[in-house]
Amino acid sequence: MLTIDDERRLLTSEKVRNAVQVQSHVLGIARQFFVGRGFVEILPVVISPFTDPLTDYRVRGEIECYGFHYQITKSMIFHKQMALLSLPRVFCFSPNIRIEPAERRTSGRHLIEFVQLDLEVRDASREDVMKLAEDFFADLFERLPAVAADELRFFGRVILPPRRPFRAIRHDEAVRDYGNDFELGLSQDLREPAWILDFPAESREFYDREYPDRPGVLRDMDLVYPEGFGEALSGGEREHELESIEKRIIRKGIDLASYKYYLDFARTGLPASAGFGIGMERLTRYICGLDSVREARYFAKLPGTLSL
Ligand code: AMP
Ligand code: MG
Repeated sequence: MLTIDDERRLLTSEKVRNAVQVQSHVLGIARQFFVGRGFVEILPVVISPFTDPLTDYRVRGEIECYGFHYQITKSMIFHKQMALLSLPRVFCFSPNIRIEPAERRTSGRHLIEFVQLDLEVRDASREDVMKLAEDFFADLFERLPAVAADELRFFGRVILPPRRPFRAIRHDEAVRDYGNDFELGLSQDLREPAWILDFPAESREFYDREYPDRPGVLRDMDLVYPEGFGEALSGGEREHELESIEKRIIRKGIDLASYKYYLDFARTGLPASAGFGIGMERLTRYICGLDSVREARYFAKLPGTLSL
């Protein structure tokens, strides 16, 4: 457990201060970029009767109000999908709470509270949002050195805008070359970010859309940072028709009743969409070359610990 002295040392360290200053510039550039592309920033949802299932290992964070069960947001996937009924392009700096397994404490990549730049685009394809992400990273790495020169010098980091389009590797190729746990091995071999495409349905949640003509394969993607920094973002096209959503929930072995309100909403119609979410602490870690996401924000909470 961290002591108050440890917390104080981290909070006042030059490293964390510089990283937070870089991050503040990243947030500003991201806002400008996405607003310039016609996006509207929406406010985060922190509790709702439903959230991203992330069923593989994560505990449900629940609170009870007035006798109703609210879940604490693991991601805003369903709410950004629903917001597209009103606006064609939305983004949000969304706090996520995920009770990660305690052994991830030392991964350098996991916090139990983190923030995603989460976005969704009505009627977009996976390729549309991949192009958008590539343009964003190029814009960010072009503009950041001018506004965060002192901080980047402090970290001794030079990150050049990556070449576009980024390299793309199919999930089955990544598994063939690096094994089931390919993320880090692949990332260590990369000199520029690369896409992983077409995840199998077993490895993802029910909301990523299946290829209509390739059952079990998803129209989704991850972006992996180079130099061993691992996953940058996940995204894809979404299931939006009630029947397909129900089929996918059932196939996951999830009780339909636990998604009653989402399904009731989907029954009244959801737009087709694609989107992705970028972890802000991981992006800061990559830009600054930090050992751990713990140094990429104030009040970082590592799995299995009590932190302020
Ligand atoms: P996911 O939808 O699980 O892929 O999460 C979206 C993005 O958030 C990931 O690509 C990471 O950049 C980031 N992320 C996911 N889980 C964590 C975590 N436990 N701590 C910090 N960042 C995370
Ligand atoms: Mg992911």
